[in-house]
Amino acid sequence: MSEDLQVLKKHYELAIVGCGPAGMAAALNAKIRKRDFILLGSGFCSPKLSKAPQVDNWLGFPEIGGEELRQRFLNHLKEQAINIVEFKVTNVYPGPPYTLVGKDQSFEADAVVLATGVSVNKLFPGEADLLGRGVGYCATCDGPLYKNKRVAIISYEQAGEDEANFMADICSKVLYIPYYSDLKRLDPRIEVYKGKVKGIVGESTVERLDVGEEELPVDGVFILRETLPAEQLISGLEMEEGAIRVNHKLETNLPGLFAAGDCTGQPFQLIKAAGEGGTAALQAVKYLDNLKSPDPKVPIL
Ligand SMILES: Cc1cc2nc3c(=O)[nH]c(=O)nc-3n(C[C@H](O)[C@H](O)[C@H](O)COP(=O)(O)OP(=O)(O)OC[C@H]3O[C@@H](n4cnc5c(N)ncnc54)[C@H](O)[C@@H]3O)c2cc1C
Repeated sequence: MSEDLQVLKKHYELAIVGCGPAGMAAALNAKIRKRDFILLGSGFCSPKLSKAPQVDNWLGFPEIGGEELRQRFLNHLKEQAINIVEFKVTNVYPGPPYTLVGKDQSFEADAVVLATGVSVNKLFPGEADLLGRGVGYCATCDGPLYKNKRVAIISYEQAGEDEANFMADICSKVLYIPYYSDLKRLDPRIEVYKGKVKGIVGESTVERLDVGEEELPVDGVFILRETLPAEQLISGLEMEEGAIRVNHKLETNLPGLFAAGDCTGQPFQLIKAAGEGGTAALQAVKYLDNLKSPDPKVPIL
């Protein structure tokens, strides 16, 4: 990750969310087409690619290791002077222009390519129903709403510890529920719960956390996963069998919003992800061109 958050502009033509093979391939085509774009990623790009012990189906590179391929992808971006900006998008508000929101910052983009991969973790019962009514995905964004209240932070990643520490200064109680093993830097005021969450409970807003043998009273629950469920990231996005519904141009049901890679469904393969990423960027470029000089006789794509 090389670009500093301070240099984020208020507006881009194109935002690419996710820095796996799909997002990186999208960025390459956006760069080659000389567009004003930003490539956003969270943490390590990409854990899945890196974990592939041996890749046998990447054309031209038989038996290459996932990590070696990842390094080659990153070098390719570097050669093209493409930066990956560390910025986890927690909300996309419909546009165009779309507003992309993350920790401490937001900006606009005329078109968006979602390339966020898929989460291996299922939603908790109650999570979707109570989203925005006590359930959130960015504690530091919504922190002030929970002044002197009780919150739980369910985290699949160490970055959750920073969010919890931030909340410890604001809330009357912070309960931290890690779904990973090695806790590193938690404020001593935070209570750690090592069990599993069975559900999030509440009538109109979050009231309790069901942990099986008991229900813990809380006013808010933040869930920190590497990949947010796409339908929670942007409201009104149509899904099909758990994946973002796209056509062969990688268009979603929302104008100017494209999706590529694992998030559009199976097969979960590198070559499909990269192919879709590149195609989505080209379609986004056509869309942007049409925004600038619309021809009423020609369909957008
Ligand atoms: C162990 C293993 C072995 C595999 N072996 C093979 C193989 O041999 N051949 C093959 O073809 N495929 C293989 N795969 C599958 C392949 O890795 C995936 O299909 C591919 O990585 C999908 O690319 P993607 O860009 O869609 O998503 P990902 O690679 O998952 O990348 C998504 C990226 O987006 C980031 N992100 C997510 N949400 C946000 C957000 N809100 N804001 C900012 N950034 C975000 C994530 O941090 C992540 O870096 C394997 C996968 C695994 C786990």
